[in-house]
Amino acid sequence: MSAVRVLYLAGSGRSGSTLVTTVLGQLPGFFAAGELRYLWRRGILENRPCGCGSPLADCPLWTRVRADLITADPAGIAARLAERLRLRGLPALLRRHRRGQPPVPGHPDDTHLARLYASIAEHALPDRASGVIVDSSKLPPYGALLGSLPGIDLYVLHVVRDPRATAYSWRRRRPLDGRADDRLMSRPPVWKAALLWLVWNTATVRLWGGRPVDDSTAGRYLRVRYEDFVADPAGTTAKIALFVGATPDDLPFPTPDTVRLTPTHSAAGNPSRHRTGVVGVVADTEWLSGLSTRAYAVVTGLTGVALSRFGYPLRRPTGTSPAATFPPDPVVPSSPATRQEG
Ligand SMILES: [Zn+2]
Repeated sequence: MSAVRVLYLAGSGRSGSTLVTTVLGQLPGFFAAGELRYLWRRGILENRPCGCGSPLADCPLWTRVRADLITADPAGIAARLAERLRLRGLPALLRRHRRGQPPVPGHPDDTHLARLYASIAEHALPDRASGVIVDSSKLPPYGALLGSLPGIDLYVLHVVRDPRATAYSWRRRRPLDGRADDRLMSRPPVWKAALLWLVWNTATVRLWGGRPVDDSTAGRYLRVRYEDFVADPAGTTAKIALFVGATPDDLPFPTPDTVRLTPTHSAAGNPSRHRTGVVGVVADTEWLSGLSTRAYAVVTGLTGVALSRFGYPLRRPTGTSPAATFPPDPVVPSSPATRQEG
């Protein structure tokens, strides 16, 4: 059987990948699977809502996929994945990649991981040969693991967002999985958000953004800045579709700055994946005035070299004044319809 195309959204958190994934999920032949590295724990064990609104165990699509994974041990797989993909293993992972070895050493669990993608292809793609599974797990080590699994034809979409915007976004309080969930997503301090941005974006470039190792990896990396996506959603979506070998037909944009979203079956991810209907695609620029001078300087100082590489200015745009205090705490979660990051 032919390998299934997986479009892996790589990068750091709060980079707008949820919106990009949900939009891609509207294209014919694309399946927005969400953050599949969390499927085992958040989806299967904790039975959190699918993108369609049903608890995962009640969603007809995931019921079929889970039936194919009946021999897998979700708790064990989740625990071992966390261990195999941990941050402190990154230097060794990159070293193995440079030597042409599988970046993440193989494990018997990989049979179940490969079966997961094959099962999604069977049950969720109308046509396996032309279909695309969109996995927004983001974590570069997980993408590296996927790249060495049998039956997966990996395309990497590197979504980058200004780290000053992501640092600001991390500080907002929000439920982990919609309003019914009272647990909050983690809120790292500004310096930690900046370092994680730097580490994961640099790792993504090292793993996929350099010179292709051989012909089989040529043309498998596309970098998109979130700011460019919101400035031209239709143009950027078409570019991503062409990158992964699809025809950009039936784009879901009624107007240049709105998108029509129907429910997806994303297994895990940011709460904003549950939005449906016609939604405005506008740049979220609250951070420009909300981020304090000190926080702006901390993030800029820690990420400076990479900022220039990705085309972001070092100086705060003129005409935006910093808030007197940071963070503005507590922050009430605003209407999901107005938030465009994920
Ligand atoms: Zn569903």
